[in-house]
Amino acid sequence: AHEIHLKRQTYLNPAIFHFYNKPLNLVDGKMQYLYDENGRRYLDAFGGIATVCCGHCHPEVVESIVNQTKRLQHSTVLYLNHAVADFAEALASKLPGDLKVVFFTNSGTEANELALMMARLHTGCQDVISLRNGYHGNAAGTMGSTAQSSYKFNVVQTGVHHALNPDQYRGVFGSNGLKYARDLDDLITYGTSGRVAGFIAEAIQGVGGILELAPGYLPAVYDKVRKAGGICIADEVQSGFARTGSHFWGFEGHGVVPDIVTMAKGIGNGIPLGAVVTTPEIAKVLTNRSYFNTFGGNPVCTAGGLAVLRVIEKEKLQQNAFNVGSYLKNRLTSLMEKHEIIGDVRGRGLMLGVELVTDRQSKTPAKVEILRVMEQMKEMGVLIGKGGFYGNVFRVTPPLCFTKEDADFLVDVMDYSMSKM
Ligand code: PMP
Repeated sequence: AHEIHLKRQTYLNPAIFHFYNKPLNLVDGKMQYLYDENGRRYLDAFGGIATVCCGHCHPEVVESIVNQTKRLQHSTVLYLNHAVADFAEALASKLPGDLKVVFFTNSGTEANELALMMARLHTGCQDVISLRNGYHGNAAGTMGSTAQSSYKFNVVQTGVHHALNPDQYRGVFGSNGLKYARDLDDLITYGTSGRVAGFIAEAIQGVGGILELAPGYLPAVYDKVRKAGGICIADEVQSGFARTGSHFWGFEGHGVVPDIVTMAKGIGNGIPLGAVVTTPEIAKVLTNRSYFNTFGGNPVCTAGGLAVLRVIEKEKLQQNAFNVGSYLKNRLTSLMEKHEIIGDVRGRGLMLGVELVTDRQSKTPAKVEILRVMEQMKEMGVLIGKGGFYGNVFRVTPPLCFTKEDADFLVDVMDYSMSKM
């Protein structure tokens, strides 16, 4: 592990960070478990977002990828291939309304870049509205729409407006989604010509600390954006693919139907794959020029994607996310009675957040304490995520095969780790 760490420090991007004082060297994965170089097993309560949705190295997904690799791997463009077409059809069938045309990419960033460009082309407008504290990617357009200073470099943000975040925990209007939505009126009236290209948001902010948009917000905002001629984009990179349990897509939990949906991460159970799904009418804007992505949605990745959809269905992973997620959220919520440090427990399905504060009244972020709890949990064999603007929110986003027993173990370990502080 020491040698790998040295190589990483010498040869790899110096900006990437790692969890834990002594970073883990992971060598094997099996469903909800990860194994280090010494064969020690960890329960993975975070990797569901970063990579896997069905479970690490899920046999059926691996088999599909291996079989397709042995048969043919090629570019997505120029020729026909059944794997690409089959997955596009299967994916489109998971979306409501007229959302039927799929563009494949290699990442979430690329998917959102394309979505923003299509919105601008379709409307002939430049102005885009995104939410403060949101994360959408790290290329020019997506870094502009991302609204957290820690992820912004010297990006030129022409035509990007950041709306008040309907944050139910720290926001000024609490859970009143309609009040936050009024900010859109001001942004459009005072910051644009009155017409906008579009609006992009996550249904539950992931990197931002598992913040579920206040109820009523999205329907109100979609209405305002459409009245101003804009396109509504749902970034489902984290909240999609059955994670929220109650629905397959995060936006469905808010009762809206977007014009463009973007996805990545869980879509391929860890292989590089992203997608933009939109209506035939919006998709047409790309036909007046040439647009392609060499490897986005190549046969190997789409074979993996199709297997993911099959597994979600066959293993009833959405139902499991609902059942285990509700159980886990209840147990985490009851920990609040015992530990003052827990300021908030929130989220849906297997996309849960636990915000740590040193004082519940002032909501001062417990930035140092969270690191100590996280280290202790690792020592006891549980890997959990961390995020939020202040870095004080635990992100619980396990593979969707997580069981009630796993949930119990996670909560018991968190309880013990907090008691030890
Ligand atoms: N959108 C959201 C909601 C994300 O969480 C992320 C990644 N954290 C992205 C977009 C960008 O995805 P990628 O890292 O694959 O480019």
